[in-house]
Amino acid sequence: MIKMGNISKMYKSGQIQVEALKNVSFTIKEKEFVSIMGPSGSGKSTLLNVIGCLDHASNGSYELSGNVVDKLSDSKMSEIRNMFIGFVFQNFHLLPRANAIKNVEIPLIYRGMSGKERKELAEHALEMVGLEERMHHLPSQLSGGQQQRVAIARAIVGNPSIILADEPTGALDTKTGDLIMELFIDLNKKQSMTIVQVTHEEEIAEYGNRIIRLVDGEIVSDESSGGILNV
Ligand code: ADP
Ligand code: ADP
Repeated sequence: MIKMGNISKMYKSGQIQVEALKNVSFTIKEKEFVSIMGPSGSGKSTLLNVIGCLDHASNGSYELSGNVVDKLSDSKMSEIRNMFIGFVFQNFHLLPRANAIKNVEIPLIYRGMSGKERKELAEHALEMVGLEERMHHLPSQLSGGQQQRVAIARAIVGNPSIILADEPTGALDTKTGDLIMELFIDLNKKQSMTIVQVTHEEEIAEYGNRIIRLVDGEIVSDESSGGILNV
């Protein structure tokens, strides 16, 4: 599903050049639940941006669901992004003036669906995250955990192949964070969704069945619950 070969990413600002990713290679198969860990500045966000087709790598090859992403134009990248990826963020990124169902409908608007179709799919996604009772609430009328559930419903409503989550529990207390992880496990096991999350919390990372650790832009370990894949 995801194949990265010797991916590197350079940022230049003036004379200074930072190599945020160095020869990163891995494969993520369908139905995996992968946690990417590493200290601040280790390249986690950069890697997520590349996986999410938000940014091109400087070098290397990247294939997503059979599409070679390396040389695609920006418009083709956004097409692939809309088709294959659902994003979840630390701070939810919900529209404050739109109720839950309207927020969840957003990714479908770009697909030219009728309002009726959008509403049906959004309702179904909200049921999947256990929020059917809160469909007409505004984000401000929901708890942090409920807002993150709305964001997850929005991520899955278009039936993506993969959910990419950037510190999904970072703004939540431990108990609420654990509930979000249980929802991820449910989506992973029951709906066969592939999940890739970035976190700096060990307990949160361990909900995944594989942990990739980055230090200074390099993979220093890659372990599945079954043992070490490669180092
Ligand atoms: P993390 O998410 O693990 O904190 P990042 O991917 O944000 O790491 O950053 C990796 C390195 O790349 C850091 O040294 C950071 O300062 C640098 N970096 C990230 N984004 C940019 C950018 N847009 N321009 C210049 N340097 C950047
Ligand atoms: P995180 O909390 O995920 O580690 P960061 O604080 O590293 O995020 O970065 C936040 C955003 O700022 C990222 O989108 C990254 O690309 C950008 N960024 C990080 N470092 C730099 C930098 N040195 N110059 C410009 N942009 C940067």
